[in-house]
Amino acid sequence: MHENPLGTARSATTTLDLESCMACGHLTEVTGCFQLPGLDGPERYLRTRCMLGHTFVGPEFALRAESRAS
Ligand SMILES: [Zn+2]
Repeated sequence: MHENPLGTARSATTTLDLESCMACGHLTEVTGCFQLPGLDGPERYLRTRCMLGHTFVGPEFALRAESRAS
């Protein structure tokens, strides 16, 4: 299990395994990351923005396309 330290230093690879923009289908970029208390502990939320400026904020598990159980 690898974890990207989002928010510290933007590495050369900004292409995370995120879904494409829900509005236009372009690639999205993670622009922010924060945690909110959830029912089962703190949940990580991501803020993403696509090339055309559509922004989405949501739980990481919802934005990521992976269905891996931790
Ligand atoms: Zn978009």
